[in-house]
Amino acid sequence: MELEHINKIKISVRTLVEFILRSGDLDNRTGGRRDTEAMQEGSRIHRKIQKKMGSNYSAEFSLSITIPISRDEVEFEICVEGRADGIISQPEEEPTVVIDEIKGVYMELSHLEAPVPIHRAQAMCYAYIYAKQYDYDNIGIRMTYCNLETENTKYFDETFTFPELEQWFLGLIDEYGKWAAWQNRWSIKRNDSIRALEFPFPYRPGQKELVTDVYKTIIRDKRLFIEAPTGVGKTISTIYPTIKAMGEGITSKIFYLTAKTITRTVVEETFQHLIEKGLHLKSVTITAKEKVCILDKPDCNPIACMRAKGHFNRVNDAVFDLLNSENEISRDFILSYAEKHNVCPFEMCLDVTNWADSIICDYNYVFDPNVYLRRFFLADKKNDYVFLIDEAHNLVERAREMYSAVLNKNQFLRVKRLVKDKGTKLEKRLEACNSDLLKLKRECDGCKVIENITDFVLHLMRLMTEYEEFLQEHSNLDGKEDILQLYMDIRHFLNMYEIHNEKYITYTDYDEQDEFRIKLLCMDPSENLHACLEKGKSAIFFSATLLPIIYYKEQLGGREGDYAVYAPSPFDKDNRIIMIGKDVSTKYTRRNDAEYQKIVDYISAFTSAKKGNYMVFFPSYQMLNQVAELAQALLDGLVVQKNNMTEMEKENFLQDFTAEPEQSRVGFCVMGGIFSEGIDLKNDRLIGVVIVGTGLPMICNERELFRGFYDEKNRRGFDYAYLYQGMNKVLQSAGRVIRTMGDKGAILLLDERFQQTQYTNLFPKEWFPNITVNRETMKTELYDFWNNQEL
Ligand code: SF4
Repeated sequence: MELEHINKIKISVRTLVEFILRSGDLDNRTGGRRDTEAMQEGSRIHRKIQKKMGSNYSAEFSLSITIPISRDEVEFEICVEGRADGIISQPEEEPTVVIDEIKGVYMELSHLEAPVPIHRAQAMCYAYIYAKQYDYDNIGIRMTYCNLETENTKYFDETFTFPELEQWFLGLIDEYGKWAAWQNRWSIKRNDSIRALEFPFPYRPGQKELVTDVYKTIIRDKRLFIEAPTGVGKTISTIYPTIKAMGEGITSKIFYLTAKTITRTVVEETFQHLIEKGLHLKSVTITAKEKVCILDKPDCNPIACMRAKGHFNRVNDAVFDLLNSENEISRDFILSYAEKHNVCPFEMCLDVTNWADSIICDYNYVFDPNVYLRRFFLADKKNDYVFLIDEAHNLVERAREMYSAVLNKNQFLRVKRLVKDKGTKLEKRLEACNSDLLKLKRECDGCKVIENITDFVLHLMRLMTEYEEFLQEHSNLDGKEDILQLYMDIRHFLNMYEIHNEKYITYTDYDEQDEFRIKLLCMDPSENLHACLEKGKSAIFFSATLLPIIYYKEQLGGREGDYAVYAPSPFDKDNRIIMIGKDVSTKYTRRNDAEYQKIVDYISAFTSAKKGNYMVFFPSYQMLNQVAELAQALLDGLVVQKNNMTEMEKENFLQDFTAEPEQSRVGFCVMGGIFSEGIDLKNDRLIGVVIVGTGLPMICNERELFRGFYDEKNRRGFDYAYLYQGMNKVLQSAGRVIRTMGDKGAILLLDERFQQTQYTNLFPKEWFPNITVNRETMKTELYDFWNNQEL
């Protein structure tokens, strides 16, 4: 739903019917979307059917209607809009016009005895709008269901009189009216408060320019890429101008997207701070289902969970109650209103997003084809949303994962065993896919790029039809998690196959457990991300480490004419020293005791120059442990990061990093791990960081495929596959030191490669000048640096 200007509320036909007419249980036992249409394949079928229909068929027909409303002492208009799949004109028959609604499904059509009510309601809305607009007394609707595998179709036809449709449609609008009236009143209050809102802090150097850049980007419908070092205040610098744009009716919804939960707290605090300054704004954070579920582990169906039973009958009342009773929408309020109305807190939270001005959530909810918020992004339509994408360097790898798909051969065998004697047809189709994979396995000598998998995909599609049937009939089975997992993996695989293009590679190899797999690997996610970003108005990507910015702009869907800015660091250069150890290497060929001893000597001298807390970042746990063994006797207060630390262990680890400690503390951590990004040891709680090695990822089949792909494309295979990711980890790890204006700290880069132009080109501006040292000169440099700080 979108507020066009203060008196007009826009809603799509689909959203309207899904919102008002839903009822019944939440039930994920059958894969979540059993009855509704398949996604990507569905659009292919739409196009195919529409093409076949001839000259009396108008495909993708845009329709809209505006209805004046007077309610709860406010007057406004509701605009309902959408695109009918097709309008059939048949002058010789009755009715002379039929609205066609097409749905592609995996299910066997003989099991479909009536149209899905929500689909029928969509067609009825279009029929009403069309009949009203073109003055028809009678009008038909046709639900066209098409099986995606067989392409068989089944039709459901009905004819309505105009008064019948009008009564039904106005009833729908009347029900929606109370929500729209709330939205209208709230928007007026919110926008009044925004007009009075001022930037809540004194501007730091360069911050005002940044705020202006963000604002201009939004009003010009552009995308902006910001490299903003720590201390710039990027959260408020992006949120404030976006809120200002909202107050002027330029955007109706802000999506603040993060890669990690920890970042979300800072964002919530920023919104809260503005609210304390007088802003009226409803902001909601989407918390992972596992964290808000009332069960130990989500099992969303009416048998396992009392909240799932009848959830849709109650959830609208729960949301309306919350919106009308509370000013803020915190997680605690969502939990308590979900309890009061006996609904699922996670699903309720998703519904609250419809009414919130800002949504703080993981990248997944916008970009992941399996998780994205269908309510906002399903329709192929540009909205006025603004995306604020924090720590955007993470999105490249995350997006590649989201748009890639993998299937393991063993999954098919496992499920085949689980469904034995219960679904003969399903067993057969699983076997057909397994045979395809077996053939591919015989041809694979370690790693093999595959040019054509059409036959395998055809078998997967046949399998999906059978799977649908099977899941409908057997909702409670032993091993249901494995059965459902394979179903969802295949669905994702088929969806990615549907969109795969020359930026994908299909290959087979063996995973870490030596299991054979086939993978559709997305080499460049820019087009996929661009398609998502096109659903909004503007996007601001920002990070402390977005170098080289041209690479991130290219990979993250930047277009010609989009902007990139570098925000200068507000910190005093004299507060830090950056040194490169020139006589040490971490190359695989040079990893030996002598080299490790040098590293220990460096660390020991570096951390004994001044009492305080230090972190040393290694490229792997293996190297970390080997160096830790040698360093044990030499280093005071050595603590070591362990693999898979819990939240509690992580907190305990950081707890002793206090300002001005009695004894030094040296934390050995891994680059790219939980301590190298997102931790904020402010106010001299960390005074030095040592980076051991260049952070390059391990060589593996996938990385080598990337290297080959980009070598062919732009001769920068090594940079794209290894260097940029490695240096990003280096910069993130080094960024743990000096977090505030008053902090002072030292950074030591231990690898001779850091002197090469290839690497120094990726240093941020604030890393110049830097000093090249050996173990002896480093001591002198450090001595001078720390002495100067005390003067
Ligand atoms: S409370 Fe948990 S199990 Fe129940 S519907 Fe919600 S997420 Fe699913």
